[in-house]
Amino acid sequence: MKLTGECFCGEVKYEINGSLRDARSCHCSRCRKVFSSQASAYAVIDASEFRWVKGVELLTTFKSQKDFGFQFCKRCGSTLCGTYKDQVHGITLGCLNEDPNIEIGRHIFVGSKASWEVIPDSIVQYEKNSPEDS
Ligand SMILES: [Zn+2]
Ligand SMILES: [Zn+2]
Repeated sequence: MKLTGECFCGEVKYEINGSLRDARSCHCSRCRKVFSSQASAYAVIDASEFRWVKGVELLTTFKSQKDFGFQFCKRCGSTLCGTYKDQVHGITLGCLNEDPNIEIGRHIFVGSKASWEVIPDSIVQYEKNSPEDS
């Protein structure tokens, strides 16, 4: 599958020749801030299937922890991907252009969600991390 994504201003573009894995949404206070949203919307990719097509010089990396970071467009501020050990680890679902044929499978750190967010009971939720991450 070929997928493309871009930031809000369109100056940074990427493409993925492969599929996304493990789409998840994290409701912790840190993810709320890095995604400027109620939660993250993120999926893992294979770094070898990912490439920047345009605007790589506009990417800024913010390291949130030693090996983990996020890359965003310094012109418009969209967060495009997460990095692990300086390689692209996954992408923010919001910047995708196409239907990735994947749905968010789990909602984690729901125990620290924002008070104003209402989550329907029908979705898979974990107070903290889901068991497969621990
Ligand atoms: Zn941009
Ligand atoms: Zn989080």
